[in-house]
Amino acid sequence: MNKEIYLDNSATTRPYDGTVDVAVAHLTDYYNPSAIYRSAIEVSKKIETVRKLLLKSINGSQGTLIFTSGGTESINSAIIQNTRKDMSVVSTAYEHDATIKSLEKLEQDGIQVIRVKPQGGKIDIDEIISQMDNKTSMVSVMHVNNETGHIIDIEALGRAIKEKNQRTAFHVDAVQSYMKMKIDVQAAMIDFLSLSSHKIHGIKGTGALYIRNPERFKLLIYGGGQEQGYRSGTENVSGILALGKAVEIGLDNFDQNIKHLKALRHYFLENLSEIDDLAINSPEDSAPHILNVSFLGVPSEILLHTLEASGICVSSGSACSSKKKASRSLEALGIGEMEKKSAIRFSFSGFNTISDLDDALEIIKKSVKSIRGITKYKIKVR
Ligand code: PLP
Repeated sequence: MNKEIYLDNSATTRPYDGTVDVAVAHLTDYYNPSAIYRSAIEVSKKIETVRKLLLKSINGSQGTLIFTSGGTESINSAIIQNTRKDMSVVSTAYEHDATIKSLEKLEQDGIQVIRVKPQGGKIDIDEIISQMDNKTSMVSVMHVNNETGHIIDIEALGRAIKEKNQRTAFHVDAVQSYMKMKIDVQAAMIDFLSLSSHKIHGIKGTGALYIRNPERFKLLIYGGGQEQGYRSGTENVSGILALGKAVEIGLDNFDQNIKHLKALRHYFLENLSEIDDLAINSPEDSAPHILNVSFLGVPSEILLHTLEASGICVSSGSACSSKKKASRSLEALGIGEMEKKSAIRFSFSGFNTISDLDDALEIIKKSVKSIRGITKYKIKVR
């Protein structure tokens, strides 16, 4: 069995050793943070320290942040609960399922949803703004697309939204960008920001939602009034403290990590380019950790399984939609049929090395060649 080379870091990341240690320690240190004896109060203080750290990391100390069960809950909570009735929402045509399904729920409740399509491979900020009017309750976009790495300039968008309508709330799904790009919620005039722990080397089942105006926030989960009353349910102490540790480690290594991710992506792409009939589906200025390419004539499914047999973990789209046929993001970006059928997403983390990539490249080159040999591969020169 070959050693595993994990290049699916947009789906989830390997937790840092430090994160696992903190999570395990707080399974043993099991106190309920709402209790009033000393050991419990200690746990509760640690949670508050993590809250402050996360708020500081996004320049959000003037607002608040609640811990959730992950990016999906944060997104649902922001979009479904905090859109005003009889109004509209503007979003894009290439969002994550958590947003897509939340928007569908709004439509069922009679709220108009406008989905801006990418043009020339990009979401045009002016197009989003032109779809707004005085009935736009919220604009919701993803900062970095999880399948291709496309970036939306959230600072330019945030300013333009507020210029057009001060009352429109701005929600950003930052699940793929947090800890890979700088986020400043004040500069981007963000009202809600959704984060997830397992994408930044934390553990699964934990996320956070930044809220600029907590006094106007509408709840998704009712109960015992934990999280300052904004999100009930006994806190996931291990998950929250592990998230804090992941952010602490991430911030300490921020610049270095981004430099490393960019170098990995550049090296990988340069070497992949030796393969004939390669289409690059990610933009040049994509997020540093995502590279989506198509090996034309090589069905994604077949390549995925061939690579998997050699220990290489990649995916053909987002983790949650990887079992479905077409990629919604590639579809929305207007990428050709042949490219869609053969798209593979490589996504990197600080744990990957150039030596891992060399091993992966050798296997990919061999696999592509052999699959093309048996699939009557014929590409018309375009
Ligand atoms: N948003 C984006 C862009 C994602 O990539 C994901 C996960 O793949 C999510 C939201 C959902 O996050 P979680 O898995 O924490 O629910």
